[in-house]
Amino acid sequence: MPSGVVTIVGVRVTPLSVPLREPFVIASGRVDTTRAALVEATVEDAGARRVTGLGESAALPPVTREDQPDLLAAIAAAGGALGGTALAGVEDVDRVLAARLPPGVARAGLEAAILDGMARLAGVPLYRMLGGPAAPPLITDITLSISEDPQRMAAAAVGHAQAGFTCFKVKVGRDWRADCASLRAVAAAVPGARFRLDANAGFTAAEALSLLDTALADGLTVECFEQPCAAGDLRGMAEVAARAPVPVVADESFRGAADLDRLLSARAAAGVNLKLTKLGGPLAALALGRRARAEGLRLMAGAMVETKVGLLAMAHVVTALGGVDWVDLDTAFLLADDPFTGGWEAEGPRIRLLDQPGLAVTRKTG
Ligand SMILES: [Mg+2]
Repeated sequence: MPSGVVTIVGVRVTPLSVPLREPFVIASGRVDTTRAALVEATVEDAGARRVTGLGESAALPPVTREDQPDLLAAIAAAGGALGGTALAGVEDVDRVLAARLPPGVARAGLEAAILDGMARLAGVPLYRMLGGPAAPPLITDITLSISEDPQRMAAAAVGHAQAGFTCFKVKVGRDWRADCASLRAVAAAVPGARFRLDANAGFTAAEALSLLDTALADGLTVECFEQPCAAGDLRGMAEVAARAPVPVVADESFRGAADLDRLLSARAAAGVNLKLTKLGGPLAALALGRRARAEGLRLMAGAMVETKVGLLAMAHVVTALGGVDWVDLDTAFLLADDPFTGGWEAEGPRIRLLDQPGLAVTRKTG
């Protein structure tokens, strides 16, 4: 734990727009270049030693209400008011930020940057500052976005399989019959693969069950089915959850503590997808993850389309939670060139966090 009081010296926020290798297409939208904000929080200890922590606020409209200009404005305003603020510990970060920003994408990046700075000053990895004793490797899936051409998805899957990936998160939810054709093509191209389906709120319960029944009849190994129905359609989600032989995971239907209560009382999901952006940062994700698990729910850890900065913050939360059921922290692999380096060693799907202070991530030079 950090020893002594840490003071926020200043906060800088800049656009973080990183092109993707290929457009990322889901049922609710499309991304060609990320629309994020990079937060740099400079903090100092009692001995006037200064470090700068990094955080990413990743907008993905319409999945997030916020877009890049909203984030830049909100973080600049909140950050400007934070200069000189003293933090006695991690709990203070939550208290100080809650007074200035609602839970959401802006707060997520600002909080991550401050926590990274505190952990760097304390000389410990962020997961350890958050209460995680050790960092076993994380194994992530890799996402296949929706394409009109099933063979294109199959070819992408083969490329990822050659890099060692065995678990594919397949985006579905636009047209269940077309999705079945894509799944069939992918499964034929990567025999033995495991699948996580994500409809991004695109189906009715009947469509979702038709897709799932077909995929299972085709012999696919499906690990879970994420957000089959609209965010507010808890009845539909509950119907799929009751009839599906695989766990239903709530993502768009899970944006905070109140949603967790609603999901539980509606029996609308067997698991929830934790993301820093929608929950408001590492501390909320950690607290809600612990609560969801105590309620018997399983956990997925996901991200928007984020660089290493955002993914690392989530990976540290996952590690502090002692692992989760489904790790989906792959989007840095989808970027044409991640502008950040360090933080983890990745070999195919295997991610090993470095035993270095904070997130241990830096901007590439040159
Ligand atoms: Mg999702």
